[in-house]
Amino acid sequence: MAAQKRDYYEVLGVPRDADAETIKKAYRKLAMKWHPDRNPDNKEEAEAKFKEASEAYAALSDPQKRQTYDRFGHAGMKDAFGAGGFDMNDLGDILGQFFGGGGGGFSFNFGGGGFEGFGGGARRPGGPRRGGDTEQVVRLSFEEALFGKTVSLRVHAAVACPECGGSGAAKGSKRVPCKQCGGSGAVRARGFFGIMQQTCPVCHGAGTVVEKPCKRCGGDGLVASDETVEVRIPAGVAHGMSLPVAGKGNAGPNDGPRGDLIVHCAVSESDLFERDGQDLILRRAVSPALLALGGELQVETPNGTATLKVRPGTPNGTMQRLRGQGVPAVGRFAQGDLIVVLEAETPQALTGEQTKLLERLRAAEGERNFPERAAQDRASAAFRAAREQAKRK
Ligand SMILES: [Zn+2]
Ligand SMILES: [Zn+2]
Repeated sequence: MAAQKRDYYEVLGVPRDADAETIKKAYRKLAMKWHPDRNPDNKEEAEAKFKEASEAYAALSDPQKRQTYDRFGHAGMKDAFGAGGFDMNDLGDILGQFFGGGGGGFSFNFGGGGFEGFGGGARRPGGPRRGGDTEQVVRLSFEEALFGKTVSLRVHAAVACPECGGSGAAKGSKRVPCKQCGGSGAVRARGFFGIMQQTCPVCHGAGTVVEKPCKRCGGDGLVASDETVEVRIPAGVAHGMSLPVAGKGNAGPNDGPRGDLIVHCAVSESDLFERDGQDLILRRAVSPALLALGGELQVETPNGTATLKVRPGTPNGTMQRLRGQGVPAVGRFAQGDLIVVLEAETPQALTGEQTKLLERLRAAEGERNFPERAAQDRASAAFRAAREQAKRK
């Protein structure tokens, strides 16, 4: 169980930028190949491959989950798939999409108990259905995002009514078959293309209605809740990243499991660093004398104070890369680097003595001190001569 999980893109054999259609095709091919019913001689391997492909497809076919996976890797999927990871509900959804009937007709069970009987429940009319996700924005300072932080969020969600346990039925009353649809959850109606099946408007597809509605929730089985949730924001999150918090969204109909709370990170900018992916850029203003004479320079990194060696004659704008001193690894992103850009600052408010020293320096400077300026002087002279010659004609 502790084996390293394979990359989802690798499992499906598709490139990272594959579109939805390509992903679907790749999964269909694998699902057909590894369908346990087609591999009676190596059932165990087939089931493992089938489940691996299904999990990869579940992640990559859902834009929200795919985004999370691209950002946080398998670590992020623990939350995206709920506390138990990829499970029978997720698998049931996929099998329903591909093979119809909520996955029915599958004759195999996955080991470990958790997968047994996945072909029913979730899709049956009146069965529990997963609730919707909710969203919240968390504002973080640059430093909080860089170093990580545990935030307390007030979460508002619809949860199962404590009075009726989510059934919507008052004490002593029960759910009875819906008269409108006869318990099937669907009715026939004249639609645009003729007679069509439609979700029953009375029971909303449940197939049952409550005999006497619960007073607390009015019969829909849900009440508003207000709870405080501690969310660990991992070190290194970037502006715009989303973190799913499993099971803190809205509860589903018929006592269905809660959806997720999606936490969006809004990160402030820093006065010191710019962020470029996982790299941090530090534009360090330095004295022209430091670049000319060389020396040492102290710079701040996320891990501590570092000392940079500046060589004599270092050009303005020189970049020095400090490996592994950038944004910490987060999800599937590796630790970044710190890139220090040395930018000469023109001295201001010179004292009389400093002015004299600079004047002496200027008087003493020669072509070999400023090869670039000397080359430009020569190019300027040639240009001037050409311009004057052209005007004479
Ligand atoms: Zn009905
Ligand atoms: Zn109730």
